[in-house]
Amino acid sequence: MRIIPLKLQQLHILKRRSILSESESKEYNKLQSGYLGELEFDKILDEYLKDLEFYHLKDYRFKVNTSEEVQIDNLLISGDRICTFEVKNYNFDLSYGSKSWHFVNGEEFKDLSMQVNRQRIALQQLLKKGSFHSAGNSVLSHLAFVNPEQTIYNMPNYENLIVPSNVKQRLSRLCKSNNYDQSSLFEFLESQRLAKSFYDVPVDLDFEQLRSGLYCYQCESTIELDKIHRNLYKCKNCKTDYKILQILENLLLEIKALNDSWKVTPTMLLKLSGGRISKATLHKYIKEGKLRL
Ligand SMILES: [Zn+2]
Repeated sequence: MRIIPLKLQQLHILKRRSILSESESKEYNKLQSGYLGELEFDKILDEYLKDLEFYHLKDYRFKVNTSEEVQIDNLLISGDRICTFEVKNYNFDLSYGSKSWHFVNGEEFKDLSMQVNRQRIALQQLLKKGSFHSAGNSVLSHLAFVNPEQTIYNMPNYENLIVPSNVKQRLSRLCKSNNYDQSSLFEFLESQRLAKSFYDVPVDLDFEQLRSGLYCYQCESTIELDKIHRNLYKCKNCKTDYKILQILENLLLEIKALNDSWKVTPTMLLKLSGGRISKATLHKYIKEGKLRL
């Protein structure tokens, strides 16, 4: 399972409960497409990893110093080696020319190799700290472009570059069973995992500023849920059914995602529901222990 990044969750909620600025909308689209790309790459990796002995750490985040962290989309311990994959789901073409990436119009794009190198060096230092230095010598870092619509011009034939046309060849070589017990390496890495990113921060809004109502989070619809009967609501767009308890749980999750320091009260839930859930129903679920605030 891969967890939806908090910033993406927050923007998804604010799309319904506030008005996104132009830069927030752009960020939302970027994060959404990045997340979908990671899910897509997970699916591909899973195909090559089935029936093997391996460890796959997703969104592996660790501290480099007091103010810096490194996040690795995929860290794989397979074939007694460590491989990382930085996934890029770009919907625009790129061109490679003399050590750097460019847009098709010639403008320079960001330095992707530097990002991957920084990850590799930081990871090697972490392994050294845990005395897994010999494993650290064999960190293989990869940049994986996953969008099949994307064209890369002048693609260099580097071992660490993965595109849809070479993914089969690359992954079948990298995905192998571990011959040795790698559990202590895996446990060390997990022990160094940063649970919360430095970048995960509460939204810059007051609770009172949020638009009330009941919304679907299975799809992109920003229209309120339809009431079918007393205990059943439905999304007009994706047809997902929601029972009242589920809706209340979702409201609770929304509040927590936006700002986990807000102390949730029954009044807040009723207000966020826009009066569509009765006080009696809410208190019934709390009293029965089905909903914990
Ligand atoms: Zn929906």
